[in-house]
Amino acid sequence: MKDVKKPENLVDVLILGSGPAGLAAALYAARAELKPLVLTGMELGGQAALTNTIENYPGFPEGVGGAQLGELFQKQAEHFGARIELELATEVDLSKRPFTVKTYDHEYLAKTLVITTGASPNHLNIPGETELTGRGVSYCATCDGWFFKGKKVVVVGGGDSAVEEALFLTRYASSVTIIHRRDALRAGAILQHRAKENPKVKFIWNSVITAVIGEDAVKAVCLKNVLTGEETEFPADGVFIFIGHTPNTQLFKDQIETDERGYIKADLLMQTNIPGVYAAGEVMDPNYRQVVTSAGMGAAAAIQATKFLESR
Ligand code: NAP
Repeated sequence: MKDVKKPENLVDVLILGSGPAGLAAALYAARAELKPLVLTGMELGGQAALTNTIENYPGFPEGVGGAQLGELFQKQAEHFGARIELELATEVDLSKRPFTVKTYDHEYLAKTLVITTGASPNHLNIPGETELTGRGVSYCATCDGWFFKGKKVVVVGGGDSAVEEALFLTRYASSVTIIHRRDALRAGAILQHRAKENPKVKFIWNSVITAVIGEDAVKAVCLKNVLTGEETEFPADGVFIFIGHTPNTQLFKDQIETDERGYIKADLLMQTNIPGVYAAGEVMDPNYRQVVTSAGMGAAAAIQATKFLESR
């Protein structure tokens, strides 16, 4: 029997997720003396914590480690009274108030909910990808780059993530080849410039990976030129995939309005279609996906949750 009756399990503001949006919401709700509860989910600090260096969060002219920034966010929220639990929400019920959120060990009741469950990296869904994940296939250069000291790696994608992570991988790998399906990068100008200047970074344009080859470890990738149809094998020890993200909204399926891609629909006040339920950060933002914008949205969501509680 889960302990829903415990008074501490009825909270004014329950925040799902502990990335920049969630922890900023926690800070603002804590400073409003609402004693918010944050259920961190699987990844404390969210995706930002997996980023080696964040160079575009204001206030850190030399850049700041992603994990370090996450710890600072957490410390600041806790300093003002936020409660942060390392728990994963497994079930929510938004059909009646207070809302119910279940984890493996507890059941919580929430007067308002701030959803900041973020987004997960997309997969290519090609042969060998799943089988060799953790054995050469990776979605996180910060986590796995170290294992590729002196090795050849390929990076798939042409956006900011792909180029930023490719540059990070040059610290370890002997060569980093960016494979992109077009002949122009989507990444911003500064990153493009850095990549093109870096002697370790090479490009294969107009090409996609159709399979990852290897038994116990990655040995090569199959490449297909999308213009000529030509297929070749390219030797590689590692395959890093950065082809966008999918919002983590499965938990709220059929309970909250999302767009056709699954992003939660929220207005400029971070309000979803359910009064008292707010969404902030990458779970509702397909456009910016920046630490600074996610944190701003989290703060806005907490301010609106505070107003909602006051109005009742
Ligand atoms: P993104 O901008 O959506 O780029 C995804 C890349 O993957 C694109 O180049 C896309 O190709 C390619 N792609 C998508 N599906 C593919 C497939 N099935 N096969 C091969 N290639 C595929 O994603 P992102 O790089 O993760 O960035 C997301 C957002 O976060 C952006 O707004 C970005 O600015 C932001 N971000 C910012 C920073 C920073 O400021 N330092 C760092 C990371 C991310 P096409 O170009 O042909 O569509």
